Amino acid sequence: MQALEGKRRNCRFMRWSQIVNRRAISRLERLRGEVQGGVYMVSDKGYDQARTGWNLSTEQRPALVVMAERAADIVSAVGFARDEDLTVGVMATGHGITAPVDEGSVLVNTSRMRDVHVMPETRTARVSAGAKWADLIPKAAAHGLAGLWGSTSDVGIVGYTLGGGFGWLGRKYGLACDSVKSAEVVTSAGELVTASAEQNADLFWGLKGGDGNFGVVTSLEFSLYPVSQVYGGNLFYPIARATEVLDLYSCWSTSVPDDVSSTFAFTNLPPLPEVPASIRGKSWAVLRFCYSGDDLEQRGEDNLRPWREELEKPAVDTIGVMPYGSTDTLSMDPVDPVATYDHTEMLTDLSPAACRTLIELCGETSGSPLIELQIRHLGGAASRPSESLNPMGHNDARFLLYGLGGNFTSEMGEAVGKYLARVAADVDPHTGGTQCINFLALDGATPERVRAAYTERDWERLVATKDRWDPANRFRFNHNIPPTGFERLPR
Ligand SMILES: Cc1cc2nc3c(=O)[nH]c(=O)nc-3n(C[C@H](O)[C@H](O)[C@H](O)COP(=O)(O)OP(=O)(O)OC[C@H]3O[C@@H](n4cnc5c(N)ncnc54)[C@H](O)[C@@H]3O)c2cc1C
Repeated sequence: MQALEGKRRNCRFMRWSQIVNRRAISRLERLRGEVQGGVYMVSDKGYDQARTGWNLSTEQRPALVVMAERAADIVSAVGFARDEDLTVGVMATGHGITAPVDEGSVLVNTSRMRDVHVMPETRTARVSAGAKWADLIPKAAAHGLAGLWGSTSDVGIVGYTLGGGFGWLGRKYGLACDSVKSAEVVTSAGELVTASAEQNADLFWGLKGGDGNFGVVTSLEFSLYPVSQVYGGNLFYPIARATEVLDLYSCWSTSVPDDVSSTFAFTNLPPLPEVPASIRGKSWAVLRFCYSGDDLEQRGEDNLRPWREELEKPAVDTIGVMPYGSTDTLSMDPVDPVATYDHTEMLTDLSPAACRTLIELCGETSGSPLIELQIRHLGGAASRPSESLNPMGHNDARFLLYGLGGNFTSEMGEAVGKYLARVAADVDPHTGGTQCINFLALDGATPERVRAAYTERDWERLVATKDRWDPANRFRFNHNIPPTGFERLPR
């Protein structure tokens, strides 16, 4: 019965823009009057800009976009959606579009809500819905503090954190979602509530790893850590040496302490002027390294000793003491909007067989069309059992594999898509079947893979939380946890 109701609702959502009646128009006018940042319908100038995010591989086609500038704008947007029986999507940067919003929905664009407030005395930050890590970094660094950001400071703090958030300090301090202290949330009923250990504790539990399933977060408070500098950088080895470099990585990574984080990457760097001349236009096997413990230079180098002693010198070595806020330079992720396809898997180990597979996929003679295939080292605090919700599966994975390719032309997109499917099939024997929410995007975020990111026990609790806070599945354009009786929208 409920499933049927879900289907009916889907049809109604799809037709909203065609069935707007006089009452809806007057409510729309009221919404336009209430929202400080502006409301855009398909016919409005500014609609395209307001609905477009970082990943250009997909298109969002909402009935309206609400450009929110304050929490009250989000309350109005969700209240309007509730009254019109529309669904709601949220976008801060568009790095993590999972299920593009459709014509039966309101897209809340939070990109103008960039306030950041650092409270050094309690080592806490409070950020508004659309703040990026880049907004927080200088303000926290002024007090010798840092948040748990990942490979790029260009992603939104809220989206990153609600999906887990694994970065260069993850092995030392855990996932970003575990550092959340409280959140202000607009619920599907259109009410602004606080979620914390003391207030609405079930909502608080679900937010910390349950993505945007339970409401629109208008502000988030979380812990900061006393880190201002790290010993880090990249060692670039010619791709012809990838086998020995990966062999060393597979052994070395099993013995490093939790304050060493690293990634091994097969990288095909384009011949573009923005890429440093020394590495431009070539393929590399790269060690990305970040040490955040005591005695930076000395102990950082101690940890790198096998790399200095067991391999010939790398072609390029950028390792040194650096401000923690500069760790964007380790991964060199693109900042400008770009069309990409990606795929992720969690590897249980880097056995000799797994390494052979990876070399076949991305080594010198592979012909790989990917920009990059990364293997990020997990473990440490990010993999310890926790009472909190864990959006990274069952904790049996030791490495996160992430492949990324350009979709600049349809031929390129097709070749990359096929190659990523081959990557998935070939590495399958080395996976434990779990997933990591934050890295599941677009076609990769199937209902089965989303579910595989959680334990059975957590999943049941997530569904119960969804039943309470969003029983109509209004917030569904995410890594969706359907409430009881609802089906997933087809991809
Ligand atoms: C280049 C790149 C590098 C990345 N590196 C890392 C990394 O190192 N570690 C890591 O863990 N992840 C990483 N990610 C994944 C990234 O954290 C997720 O894609 C994240 O969802 C991005 O959040 P966003 O707000 O920037 O994106 P958006 O596309 O704007 O939002 C993504 C989703 O977040 C949710 N959301 C956003 N804001 C709100 C809100 N206010 N209330 C409720 N829900 C909200 C919604 O479900 C939304 O659909 C990376 C992604 C890319 C593209």
